Amino acid sequence: MTNEQAASIADFIAPLRVEPGRRIVLPKDFDPGFCPPGLTKETGQEQLQRGIEVLAEYQDRLAAQNVYGVLFCLQAMDAAGKDGTIRHVMSGVNAQGVRVTSFKVPSTEELDHDYLWRYANALPRRGEIGIFNRSHYEEVLVVRVHPEVLGRQNLPAHAHEGIWKRRYEEINNWEKYLVDNGIVVVKVFLNVSRDEQRRRFLERIDHPHKNWKFSAADIAERQHWDAYQTAYSDMLTHTSTSWAPWYVVPADSKWFMRMCAAAILGHTLISIDPHYPTVSPEVRHQLAAARAELESEG
Ligand code: AMP
Ligand code: MG
Repeated sequence: MTNEQAASIADFIAPLRVEPGRRIVLPKDFDPGFCPPGLTKETGQEQLQRGIEVLAEYQDRLAAQNVYGVLFCLQAMDAAGKDGTIRHVMSGVNAQGVRVTSFKVPSTEELDHDYLWRYANALPRRGEIGIFNRSHYEEVLVVRVHPEVLGRQNLPAHAHEGIWKRRYEEINNWEKYLVDNGIVVVKVFLNVSRDEQRRRFLERIDHPHKNWKFSAADIAERQHWDAYQTAYSDMLTHTSTSWAPWYVVPADSKWFMRMCAAAILGHTLISIDPHYPTVSPEVRHQLAAARAELESEG
């Protein structure tokens, strides 16, 4: 990776990053259908392929260095393409170095703990890339849109006061703690339009191989579209920080979305710049001795 290549990836993703403190209103501030003029699907897919190779190389170095972990959080409305993005972007990476966790409706055990507990339990180790397919941000999204979900969390009365502002703060502080201790946090919102979601649901209904992905609950959830846009806007406004920024990726074009996601994760790894450990003179001595012994056998 040359400095120029690294700089061109940084430039490419810069417009997707939410500046800390910027007030975001969706869908006005980020266009789900954006695609740079002149970029073709073919070029985009070539870039994605390059990105996948970069990820493989840097993930190997990350694992060898064993100092930093990476937490990649993916949030989106239903059918925006979280699963496909993970499948494509991580397709070249050693499976041993990746840990994907999908967060569903919390279990009774999870509800018996503080709300960040289950996310803390799934964090990547040093040397690993952890992917959260949905994340702790559900705690200010689905939980906010559906008050009955919050009701199931059995919080003490005082915890309800100013709850969303407080959760933003708590999440920011938690992420700061992680970053300070070597777990790099990067967050991606796959921004799909209401229209494109409709098309993808129809595809799930019409294609037998996609039927399993369709759930009637998704249609019910779609009725809350505006409430979700508001919750996402507030989340982006309050939790994009200098230590853990949000990126908003246009999701109406699948190939462009995947290319962006690979570039963001690639940029994160390039910024960490992990190195293979070098061995001490004593170890190099041992290596030379071992080599001599093996050669004498031949
Ligand atoms: P899926 O689309 O198959 O990943 O479904 C996961 C479901 O779990 C979605 O409907 C989410 O809204 C729901 N979910 C994820 N996290 C939470 C949470 N913290 N509280 C309540 N529901 C959640
Ligand atoms: Mg679903």
